Amino acid sequence: MIIVRITIAIVAVIIGITGAIAMWLLERKIKDRQRRKPIRLKHSSLRRVGDSMFKSECPKCREGTLPVTRDQKTLKVIAEDYCLLCGQRFIYTDFERIAN
Ligand SMILES: [Zn+2]
Repeated sequence: MIIVRITIAIVAVIIGITGAIAMWLLERKIKDRQRRKPIRLKHSSLRRVGDSMFKSECPKCREGTLPVTRDQKTLKVIAEDYCLLCGQRFIYTDFERIAN
């Protein structure tokens, strides 16, 4: 039975380390994103992805998607967005038109 206990302990440690690394990578990604200079553009000038009203093609990498970011609490659309693929930040100068 000692082998089972050791195995459980090792698995627990691996899960813990994996979780810590994942958190660290996520934090680094967010910090990296915030450090980049945002590009100001009009949401209306972007090409939509599929049949979505909001999702747009990233004008920088041309492969990523700009999802339209919402405030975590109020769920309102915010003027700042970022590419899901390359992480480039964008600020929509015609934000009022998207929000309303
Ligand atoms: Zn991109």
